[in-house]
Amino acid sequence: MSTESPKDLESELDEILDHCNALRQAPVPDDASLPDGYTGTLGHFPVYFPEELAHSAGLLPVGILGGGNKLELKHADAHMGSFVCSICRSTTELGLSGALKNLAGFVTHPICDAAKHLGGIWARNFPEQLAQILYLPQNVNTPGAVRFIAAEYQRLRGELEKKAGRASDDERLRASIGIYNRNRALLRELYAIRRDEPWKLSCTESYLLARARTRIPAEEHNALLERAIPAIRARSRQAQDKPRVVFVGGFCEQPPLEMLEAIDDNCYVVDDDLLVGLRWITSDVPETGDPVRALAESFVERSAASPVQHDERKTKEGYLMEMLRSSRADAAIVTAAKFCEPGLDEQVAWSKHLDHVGVQYLVLEFEEKMTSFEQMAMQLETFAESLLFATA
Ligand code: SF4
Repeated sequence: MSTESPKDLESELDEILDHCNALRQAPVPDDASLPDGYTGTLGHFPVYFPEELAHSAGLLPVGILGGGNKLELKHADAHMGSFVCSICRSTTELGLSGALKNLAGFVTHPICDAAKHLGGIWARNFPEQLAQILYLPQNVNTPGAVRFIAAEYQRLRGELEKKAGRASDDERLRASIGIYNRNRALLRELYAIRRDEPWKLSCTESYLLARARTRIPAEEHNALLERAIPAIRARSRQAQDKPRVVFVGGFCEQPPLEMLEAIDDNCYVVDDDLLVGLRWITSDVPETGDPVRALAESFVERSAASPVQHDERKTKEGYLMEMLRSSRADAAIVTAAKFCEPGLDEQVAWSKHLDHVGVQYLVLEFEEKMTSFEQMAMQLETFAESLLFATA
């Protein structure tokens, strides 16, 4: 139990949140400034990447989450159509402008056509980097799914070892799994606070705390969360009269921070799918036996739901209803990134189902590069008021 006063804990938490916000915009570290034990960095695109494979080979996993709303596109439009989602275009821009030159490699996934083609763009334009597509099955309900994933993980592990010049033996990989199991447990604790005492931690703050893992080693992120969580629990904030909502549609392209802040101003977001790839595995991965198989099995058997994976055990409607139920939410904010096919498809199914079961919801579309939020703030205020009136 912490012996610090609530005031000290609050100022420590402010410092941690400022640090996380700075990390959000931090450049990829060059080799000279890497933490001890790492020989390079491996960029990976959303949604899910088994970071343990890179970590155990001595490559620092760096989540590549697009360029936000401060990046001007100068080169990317010559490489892809204007109908492609913002995160793919701004990621290409970051590469072409040299902002990702410190990466030793970049891994993307066939979650959609746009993301899959990033692999080819990378290989052609940055031949000095290892460009890889990690093929994760979109349908996990086939008998060969675990075997297929394990073979893919093993193939990629070999590529990473070659690039890093360091073997990732099973003992190292099991140690990495242990570090990430601790990280996943801490992230689950953050979400439990949001569910049980949402006035203590806003969605924006929780997002910043989770997102810090995309720039620092998991062990450092564990230490950061271990300091932050007691300080959050010690907060003496009063609960406000705000509706409890879940936020869905932020699984890949990142909503601007200002959008999350506008939602926080009006609602308590008691669950969401933001950065779901960092929380993809929902319980501990076994730390004994074959570690590659344990990771592959976890992808199938202990994983979150997402619009980019088909699992007949988790229907679109079913997992949203489960989010609403388990977080005791009154309503949903159903978003999608502009031009995101998987997200827009899910949005239609969700809206139709929520109409059917009589759950209130607000539909919002966003783009990482949007800069004007007044209209959205007004929509959110009206939505929150209508929910409060309905329950008064
Ligand atoms: S935002 Fe949607 S369309 Fe764009 S890469 Fe992600 S899943 Fe694909």
